[in-house]
Amino acid sequence: MKRREFLSCAITAGAIMMMPAIWSGCQGSRKGKDITLPNLPYPEDALEPYISSRTIGFHYGKHHKGYVDKVNRFMKGTRFSGMPLEEMIVKSAGNADFSSVFNNAAQVFNHTFYWNSMSPDGGGTPPQTVAEKIDDAFGGIDAFKKAFINAGTGQFGSGWAWLVLREDKLEVVATANADTPIAHGLKPVMVIDVWEHAYYLDYQNKRKDYVEAFLENLINWAFVEKNLVAM
Ligand code: MN
Repeated sequence: MKRREFLSCAITAGAIMMMPAIWSGCQGSRKGKDITLPNLPYPEDALEPYISSRTIGFHYGKHHKGYVDKVNRFMKGTRFSGMPLEEMIVKSAGNADFSSVFNNAAQVFNHTFYWNSMSPDGGGTPPQTVAEKIDDAFGGIDAFKKAFINAGTGQFGSGWAWLVLREDKLEVVATANADTPIAHGLKPVMVIDVWEHAYYLDYQNKRKDYVEAFLENLINWAFVEKNLVAM
């Protein structure tokens, strides 16, 4: 078994035991052999005024749904058909013949993780356990926020800024386009979508304002904490 597969299996087993609700949410619920669109964890207008219902309506109803529809189309008749979403992502990563399967499967996962990374009751200060882990990795909450803003605004073109666990230490990383930490043996903890479709209707070209609004008002620290506990 390759190291990456081993890591994925280990993470999978741990997550299934520790947090079944989040796990099923992260995978996208599966009906028969198809990947299905998970429900939004809140109403479309719940993140206003920071993210409008119009943005969520398009982003969830068109973009996220579009990735679900496409991964089902592209996996049909391949060895990826019927695979759990995360296994499909890990096994198609880096395979040029199946880049459409990888891109759409990863985007399904990334978007589900993004919706869960936000909450109408989000923002504020992190719980103690999370704060300690952030202090340990970054030297304080302000240094973490600066690193996260730099990752989000510094990602050229489309992509994502993540808080991840590398082994047991928190780290901020950016990924381009559909790329995702689980393809690199990293455990995702929290994410912001910095594709223009995530913020353009509300913030136009001001990506930094969107990332700051996310950190101050939307970040779901309870989700972060759950992902750390389940490590
Ligand atoms: Mn998106």
